[in-house]
Amino acid sequence: MMPYPHLLAPLDLGHVTLKNRVLMGSMHTGLEETGDWNRVAEFYATRARGGVGLMVTGGMAPNREGGVFPGAAGLFTPQDVQNHRIVTDRVHAAGGLIAMQILHAGRYAYSKDCVSASSVKSPISPFPPRALDEAGIETQIADIVTAATRAREAGYDGVEVMGSEGYFLNQFLVTHTNHRADRWGGSFENRMRLPVEVVRRVRAAVGPDFILIYRISLIDLIPNGSTWDEVVLLARAIESAGASILNTGIGWHEARVPTIATSVPRAAFAHLTARLRPEVSIPVITSNRINTPEVAETLLASGAADMVSMARPFLADPNFVAKAAAGRADQIAPCIACNQACLDHTFSGKLTSCLVNPRACHETVLSYDPALVFKRVAVVGAGPAGMMAALVAAQRGHRVVLFDRADQLGGQLNLARLVPGKEEFNGLVDWFAASVAEAGIETRLGKDVGVEDLGGFDEVVVATGVRPRDPGIAGQERGLSYREVLRGAPVGRRVAVIGAGGIGFDVAEFLVAGEHSVTTHPEQWRREWGVGDPAVTAGGLAEPAPDAPAREVWLLQRKAEKPGRGLGKTTGWIHRAALQMKGVKMWGGVSYLGIEAGGLRISRDGVEEILAVDQVVLCAGQVPERGLADQLAEAGMTAHVIGGADVAAELDAKRAIDQGARLAAKL
Ligand code: NAP
Ligand code: SF4
Repeated sequence: MMPYPHLLAPLDLGHVTLKNRVLMGSMHTGLEETGDWNRVAEFYATRARGGVGLMVTGGMAPNREGGVFPGAAGLFTPQDVQNHRIVTDRVHAAGGLIAMQILHAGRYAYSKDCVSASSVKSPISPFPPRALDEAGIETQIADIVTAATRAREAGYDGVEVMGSEGYFLNQFLVTHTNHRADRWGGSFENRMRLPVEVVRRVRAAVGPDFILIYRISLIDLIPNGSTWDEVVLLARAIESAGASILNTGIGWHEARVPTIATSVPRAAFAHLTARLRPEVSIPVITSNRINTPEVAETLLASGAADMVSMARPFLADPNFVAKAAAGRADQIAPCIACNQACLDHTFSGKLTSCLVNPRACHETVLSYDPALVFKRVAVVGAGPAGMMAALVAAQRGHRVVLFDRADQLGGQLNLARLVPGKEEFNGLVDWFAASVAEAGIETRLGKDVGVEDLGGFDEVVVATGVRPRDPGIAGQERGLSYREVLRGAPVGRRVAVIGAGGIGFDVAEFLVAGEHSVTTHPEQWRREWGVGDPAVTAGGLAEPAPDAPAREVWLLQRKAEKPGRGLGKTTGWIHRAALQMKGVKMWGGVSYLGIEAGGLRISRDGVEEILAVDQVVLCAGQVPERGLADQLAEAGMTAHVIGGADVAAELDAKRAIDQGARLAAKL
């Protein structure tokens, strides 16, 4: 029987048939702005070869004022059209279909020239927008229509008009940002005039045989957002105006509710697509936190949607669909929704990549070609750095033996997977294990490795990871290490955590969580974060109702700054907010005077006090575990040292995996 019969079923759109129900959702990769069109084309063609039914490009600006940032890519000149031709030709040659997203950012444009319905500044932008007059609105519509006709000229199979996530068209829809009293504001009929008019005129301009996707916001998650009745009215009007497909968006970018981070339950918002689907007769796409074929298949089989949009999963594995179709889902590199190499990069002005797949967006500059000489390679340490080095080396034809003193693969990932909200790490470890087995890598686990074990190899890779830093605090032997705590050591009701880095935050979340992780309990997660029903409150915001914390926790650091500043750019706020809602006291500027029978003695702002806690957990950072590397050096043996064993500071799985892959690509 065909695996995933709903996911792999074709979808007839009239003039064209999609080969399956999978949409690669729009992602801003930064590739277009490099001007290297071969690289852009290869990024999309690689995913077309991997079997995805339809792809949507990153958002293209319809004009200068609508670009997300100054210099944002768009189809402004005949040369731009030619450049995009390179992409569409390559995708078509690979058997794929591709639509171009037209993204007008409105007040989210990072520019003093930004425009919107009214002059209401966004909390995530320093620039108040200029309220458009009637002629200005007409200009914006005309520019969006021109972008669509140029997309057709450039060979695209369709366009996606971005109407969600709080961008320009969304800004006209809600009274939160639309204070107008003319025919573009006031009643909902007036507020929805702009998106409907855009779709009507785009359809008229591009003709019937062109895919027109409209991305509609199902739940704005802002005050005075759309009501459910308005969402339905808009969806029907957009269908009548000529859209072929409704894609769905969740939450404005300024919403204080996480919508795509790893701690968001899988398919947490798909119930809203399910509710919309019977209201229209065009296909509806569901999205957000869908990252396995099983989840996608279940949604489609239940009738929640006609198609499933996955974006980041196609960074992690371009062959997602092909592997699912071949019954090899365990070989799909999973997107763990960490944002570390994709969105965090985008928002830091760096090219997008992927923690799990360093080749993402680097297809033309990082290759795993077969080696000229096949070697015997020893990799010591089966954490992320070592496992990735082993996999890439094996893929290139080397014979690899992977050693670890632990009796399982995964290294520090096995600790991360124990943290509530980090359940996706389970899939990552499983994928590594399945891939190591599939690649024929010999594993030698459960035994300390010495110099004597490594004699017969042509290359030795040391990826022995890190060990906890000794913070040198008086009485620290009374404390617990984070490893002990995550592995289930008994901990009392009042706990102080020393160190507020990534691991300190993880441990604090572990300590305040109740019996289970809310990430695996969507109803409870929605209650905690105040995700309501847009049919009850406009925008779908409810009063957050977190459960009481399991423990009273202090999260401490010596630096005077606010704890959590070093966390991920797009996810740090979620960790801080999660701990705040559980009443965790996050203190900076703390000096540790000693751990005593009565608790932790500290000084803060020159005042000494004792925190009367039952336990103190040490999360004071890491140092490289270089014992083996040093022994090899003493024995005069050359070795490559990677991951935490190389540099522990700021170590995370992204750097470890990237370093492992890049080393093995050259062995
Ligand atoms: P870290 O992020 O470097 O944090 C170490 C913490 O220990 C800091 O709060 C530091 O703050 C404190 N510290 C350092 N030296 C100390 C000393 N001698 N005595 C007492 N406190 C000391 O390291 P980590 O938390 O162990 O995390 C390791 C790596 O894993 C991090 O780089 C992180 O990127 C990664 N990770 C990331 C995430 C994530 O969410 N992305 C989650 C887990 C782990 P003060 O020096 O101010 O006291
Ligand atoms: Fe997914 Fe993380 Fe890769 Fe982004 S970096 S695509 S979130 S695994």
